[in-house]
Amino acid sequence: MVAKIIDGEHYAADLRDQLAVEIAELARQGIRPGLATVMAGEGYAARAYERRLRGLAGKLGCHYVCEALPENVTEADALAAVGKLDADPRVSGVLVLRPLPRQVSEVALYRLLDPVKDIEAVHPVNAGLLTLDRPRYIPSTPASAFHMLDRYLRESGRDPQEVYARSNMVLVGRSNNVGKPAVILGLNRNATVLSCDVHSFKAGLLYSHTAQADILIIAAGMPGLVTGEHVKPGVIAIDVGINPVEEPRTGKVRLVGDLDFATVAAKAEAISPVPGGVGPITDVWLLRNTVAAARAAAGLPGTE
Ligand code: NDP
Repeated sequence: MVAKIIDGEHYAADLRDQLAVEIAELARQGIRPGLATVMAGEGYAARAYERRLRGLAGKLGCHYVCEALPENVTEADALAAVGKLDADPRVSGVLVLRPLPRQVSEVALYRLLDPVKDIEAVHPVNAGLLTLDRPRYIPSTPASAFHMLDRYLRESGRDPQEVYARSNMVLVGRSNNVGKPAVILGLNRNATVLSCDVHSFKAGLLYSHTAQADILIIAAGMPGLVTGEHVKPGVIAIDVGINPVEEPRTGKVRLVGDLDFATVAAKAEAISPVPGGVGPITDVWLLRNTVAAARAAAGLPGTE
């Protein structure tokens, strides 16, 4: 079997076009969505993500601001930065980029966010609404993984609801930002969901679980963690992982996923690549949530 490649760039371009139309319509009503990011330190992934969001917000004509804090920022100063963005009327949505330095509590920052500006649904109220299947916002990364699945299944002539109801869905990784909300999105689509983490790996159970997956979503941050020998023929595999690896010969950094792409692709029905898979959709989805936040702040109905 040679897997179909689920082209995240193509899906992202379509979402971007739809969003541009919506932003132009809001501009006619005098509304300009604004995205703010909060970043502490010099993490490679956070900096790269921040640059992409800045570029995309600019292209779409959104207001954009980044609170770039030093690695040794105190928690009080980080909280003050979030408070400032909460109070800024030009800012519709706020994203706190991870990882944060050890002295700053992620949870403390999340709790301070105005829930209407919390476009990643990390505030306890928004996380709770998501769990209850009444989401205010769907966090961008799991939303993108499921957008890929929904669209791929529809385009291959199947009813996603029927496929999910008959599927064993295995998630590798259970972070609060990616894995856990993805579990909820899977449950809300009536899939039979199994969540794996480091403990499943250490207990020697991970690969017997991944081998049962009809749909596999992996977000572990471990390059090549799952290979072709760990998956079932015909699996649909979504790779969320983005791992910078240095080429030993040239010293150049390239990005790889958590799947061993070649061997999984040799057995899968379909696979999302890295780069060019979930990542580009995530960027647009975050702006999509920002636009939804701008609509909510203006008292306009949502567009879902
Ligand atoms: P975290 O480090 O917060 O979480 C990683 C999760 O993977 C944890 O639940 C951990 O288990 C689990 N895990 C780690 N190693 C193993 C293993 N050997 N076997 C099974 N489970 C394992 O990472 P994130 O969720 O933030 O991100 C995960 C990956 O996704 C990263 O590569 C990140 O760069 C990427 N990412 C991509 C995005 C995109 O847009 N495509 C956006 C956000 C992240 P435990 O809980 O037990 O520690």
